Amino acid sequence: MATHVDVKHSRRIMGRLGHDKDLLEELTAVAAGEGVTLGRVEAIGAVKRARLGYYNQEEREYEFHEVDQPMEIISLLGNVSLKDGKPMVHAHVTLADREGRAFGGHLAPGTVVFACEFVMQALEGAELKRAHDDPTGLPLWEM
Ligand code: ZN
Repeated sequence: MATHVDVKHSRRIMGRLGHDKDLLEELTAVAAGEGVTLGRVEAIGAVKRARLGYYNQEEREYEFHEVDQPMEIISLLGNVSLKDGKPMVHAHVTLADREGRAFGGHLAPGTVVFACEFVMQALEGAELKRAHDDPTGLPLWEM
Protein backbone atom coordinates (compact mmCIF):
# COMPACT_ATOMS: atom_id res chain seq x y z
CA MET A 1 0.00 0.00 0.00
CA ALA A 2 1.29 3.44 -0.89
CA THR A 3 1.49 6.03 1.85
CA HIS A 4 2.13 9.72 1.46
CA VAL A 5 2.05 13.16 3.04
CA ASP A 6 1.25 16.60 1.63
CA VAL A 7 4.19 19.00 1.39
CA LYS A 8 4.56 22.56 0.22
CA HIS A 9 7.36 24.18 -1.65
CA SER A 10 9.32 26.49 0.60
CA ARG A 11 12.42 27.75 -1.22
CA ARG A 12 15.09 26.76 -3.71
CA ILE A 13 18.83 26.91 -3.35
CA MET A 14 21.11 26.85 -6.39
CA GLY A 15 24.84 26.51 -6.37
CA ARG A 16 27.88 24.59 -7.36
CA LEU A 17 29.92 22.09 -5.43
CA GLY A 18 33.62 22.26 -4.70
CA HIS A 19 36.17 20.73 -7.06
CA ASP A 20 37.61 17.46 -5.73
CA LYS A 21 34.98 17.21 -2.99
CA ASP A 22 32.84 14.19 -2.23
CA LEU A 23 29.55 14.60 -4.11
CA LEU A 24 27.27 13.06 -1.48
CA GLU A 25 29.02 14.75 1.44
CA GLU A 26 28.82 18.14 -0.25
CA LEU A 27 25.09 17.84 -0.95
CA THR A 28 24.54 16.71 2.63
CA ALA A 29 26.56 19.69 3.90
CA VAL A 30 24.41 22.08 1.83
CA ALA A 31 21.23 20.59 3.32
CA ALA A 32 22.62 20.76 6.86
CA GLY A 33 24.04 24.25 6.40
CA GLU A 34 20.77 25.59 4.98
CA GLY A 35 18.61 23.79 7.52
CA VAL A 36 16.87 21.70 4.86
CA THR A 37 15.34 18.69 6.60
CA LEU A 38 12.84 17.85 3.86
CA GLY A 39 13.38 18.43 0.18
CA ARG A 40 14.43 17.31 -3.22
CA VAL A 41 17.68 17.75 -5.09
CA GLU A 42 18.84 17.60 -8.67
CA ALA A 43 22.26 18.15 -10.21
CA ILE A 44 24.29 17.94 -13.39
CA GLY A 45 28.02 18.22 -13.95
CA ALA A 46 30.96 15.87 -14.05
CA VAL A 47 32.81 13.55 -11.70
CA LYS A 48 36.40 12.33 -11.62
CA ARG A 49 35.32 8.88 -10.47
CA ALA A 50 32.28 7.30 -8.90
CA ARG A 51 31.21 4.80 -6.30
CA LEU A 52 27.73 3.45 -6.85
CA GLY A 53 25.53 1.16 -4.83
CA TYR A 54 23.20 -1.61 -5.88
CA TYR A 55 20.90 -3.02 -3.23
CA ASN A 56 20.97 -6.79 -3.26
CA GLN A 57 17.37 -7.60 -2.36
CA GLU A 58 18.13 -11.24 -1.54
CA GLU A 59 21.07 -10.50 0.75
CA ARG A 60 19.49 -7.24 1.96
CA GLU A 61 22.70 -5.30 1.69
CA TYR A 62 24.34 -2.82 -0.66
CA GLU A 63 26.97 -3.95 -3.11
CA PHE A 64 29.23 -1.13 -4.23
CA HIS A 65 31.07 -0.78 -7.49
CA GLU A 66 33.62 1.81 -8.46
CA VAL A 67 33.88 3.40 -11.86
CA ASP A 68 37.35 4.90 -11.91
CA GLN A 69 37.19 7.34 -14.82
CA PRO A 70 35.97 10.89 -15.58
CA MET A 71 32.27 10.96 -16.44
CA GLU A 72 29.42 13.36 -17.02
CA ILE A 73 26.62 13.55 -14.48
CA ILE A 74 23.70 13.09 -16.84
CA SER A 75 21.21 13.18 -14.02
CA LEU A 76 21.27 13.23 -10.24
CA LEU A 77 17.90 12.98 -8.54
CA GLY A 78 17.38 12.71 -4.85
CA ASN A 79 15.59 13.73 -1.73
CA VAL A 80 16.39 15.07 1.71
CA SER A 81 14.86 13.75 4.91
CA LEU A 82 15.89 13.03 8.46
CA LYS A 83 17.90 10.07 9.63
CA ASP A 84 19.05 9.92 13.24
CA GLY A 85 17.97 13.55 13.63
CA LYS A 86 20.18 14.86 10.80
CA PRO A 87 19.48 15.73 7.16
CA MET A 88 20.24 12.78 4.91
CA VAL A 89 20.51 13.08 1.14
CA HIS A 90 19.40 9.98 -0.76
CA ALA A 91 20.36 10.32 -4.41
CA HIS A 92 20.61 8.21 -7.53
CA VAL A 93 22.80 9.12 -10.47
CA THR A 94 23.19 8.34 -14.13
CA LEU A 95 26.74 8.96 -15.39
CA ALA A 96 28.17 8.71 -18.89
CA ASP A 97 31.68 7.94 -20.12
CA ARG A 98 33.34 9.51 -23.19
CA GLU A 99 31.55 7.11 -25.51
CA GLY A 100 28.20 8.02 -23.96
CA ARG A 101 27.81 4.71 -22.18
CA ALA A 102 25.81 5.04 -19.01
CA PHE A 103 26.47 3.83 -15.49
CA GLY A 104 24.03 4.32 -12.71
CA GLY A 105 23.06 3.54 -9.18
CA HIS A 106 22.64 4.70 -5.63
CA LEU A 107 25.09 7.53 -4.98
CA ALA A 108 27.65 6.43 -2.39
CA PRO A 109 30.48 8.24 -0.62
CA GLY A 110 33.59 8.07 -2.77
CA THR A 111 32.20 9.88 -5.82
CA VAL A 112 34.51 12.83 -6.50
CA VAL A 113 33.26 16.11 -7.99
CA PHE A 114 34.95 17.60 -11.03
CA ALA A 115 32.24 20.24 -11.40
CA CYS A 116 28.64 20.15 -10.29
CA GLU A 117 25.66 22.50 -10.43
CA PHE A 118 22.74 21.68 -8.18
CA VAL A 119 19.26 22.86 -7.30
CA MET A 120 17.88 21.96 -3.89
CA GLN A 121 14.24 22.56 -3.17
CA ALA A 122 13.22 22.81 0.47
CA LEU A 123 9.78 21.47 1.33
CA GLU A 124 7.66 21.86 4.42
CA GLY A 125 4.45 20.60 5.93
CA ALA A 126 5.67 17.22 7.07
CA GLU A 127 8.62 15.58 8.74
CA LEU A 128 9.90 12.40 7.17
CA LYS A 129 12.19 10.31 9.31
CA ARG A 130 14.00 7.20 8.22
CA ALA A 131 13.75 4.04 10.28
CA HIS A 132 14.46 0.38 9.71
CA ASP A 133 11.87 -1.27 7.44
CA ASP A 134 11.50 -4.99 8.03
CA PRO A 135 10.31 -6.19 4.60
CA THR A 136 13.22 -4.53 2.77
CA GLY A 137 15.95 -4.13 5.40
CA LEU A 138 16.27 -0.50 4.27
CA PRO A 139 16.02 2.74 6.31
CA LEU A 140 12.73 3.92 4.81
CA TRP A 141 10.39 6.75 5.76
CA GLU A 142 8.16 6.10 8.75
CA MET A 143 4.59 6.92 7.68
ZN1 ZN B 1 19.07 4.48 -3.17
